[in-house]
Amino acid sequence: MLANLTAMKVAVCVKQIPDPADPGALDPQTKTLRRDVKLILDESDSYGVEMALQLVDNAGGGSVHLVSMAPNDEVNGLRTALAMGADSAALISDEALAGSDALGTARVLAAAVAKAEPDLVLAATESSDGYTGVVPAQVAELMSLPSVTFAKEVSVQDGVATVRRQTEAGAELVECPLPAVVSVTAGVVEPRYPSFKGIMQAKNKPLEQLRIADLGLSAEQVGWAGAGQAISEITEAPARTAGEVITDEGDAHERIVAFLQELKAI
Ligand SMILES: Cc1cc2nc3c(=O)[nH]c(=O)nc-3n(C[C@H](O)[C@H](O)[C@H](O)COP(=O)(O)OP(=O)(O)OC[C@H]3O[C@@H](n4cnc5c(N)ncnc54)[C@H](O)[C@@H]3O)c2cc1C
Repeated sequence: MLANLTAMKVAVCVKQIPDPADPGALDPQTKTLRRDVKLILDESDSYGVEMALQLVDNAGGGSVHLVSMAPNDEVNGLRTALAMGADSAALISDEALAGSDALGTARVLAAAVAKAEPDLVLAATESSDGYTGVVPAQVAELMSLPSVTFAKEVSVQDGVATVRRQTEAGAELVECPLPAVVSVTAGVVEPRYPSFKGIMQAKNKPLEQLRIADLGLSAEQVGWAGAGQAISEITEAPARTAGEVITDEGDAHERIVAFLQELKAI
């Protein structure tokens, strides 16, 4: 799989999500987000796309292949990532996928990624809508590949990825053989804006549309039928309340400290 790193192939998992500025509604019946609106590239995944483009550049050549699972044959977010410079994409869309939980999603992504035979797989640490943060590690496990999470810096040389991981205490440097699945944190790189030329070129880049049968998966392994998780309850997030304004009359610092102590923040 890792024949020649001067032509490195990076697969990037990119999720297409409802626009966070207008996310639509939760379906009270299924307790999931309605996704029948136009979907966009999850900003979290724009970092993975940018990282992949830079790694291929640094390797002196290669390609960036996108993999996305989304309803209604949605390709809008994929087109954005292709316009950034990715070379090709695969979209898996199938009615049987409705109700897929994280593991069902990972099964689909793992099968689609395997088809591309990449040297490296990138994903975001967590998506902006579901943010379970488990899909990349599940993809790695299903593909029997090493999983490196919370990457802040990634470099590749001689078939080895060197990754600076963000940890609670600071950072740690790990090395792992390729192929591997690496999930990157937001802000790891500065994603480029698609240029006009990129947008025009994206229209003609290969975009393969797949159903689950094309990946050797059955309806029992995905969707509601394959979900091991169930959503028992959904509630609206509480509306934000106005904060308390503390006017300094000489004791503002004491009142702030008391407030933080009450919250057990200090
Ligand atoms: C019972 C149940 C039913 C559900 N039904 C639906 C449903 O009908 N429709 C629906 O859309 N969601 C549904 N969901 C939510 C869905 O399971 C999650 O959104 C999905 O599994 C991904 O989880 P996440 O976004 O939390 O992934 P995370 O682990 O937070 O994602 C991390 C990264 O993994 C990659 N990734 C994750 N998902 C995808 C994707 N789809 N394509 C490409 N890359 C991806 C991206 O790089 C992403 O940034 C359901 C969940 C449950 C528990």
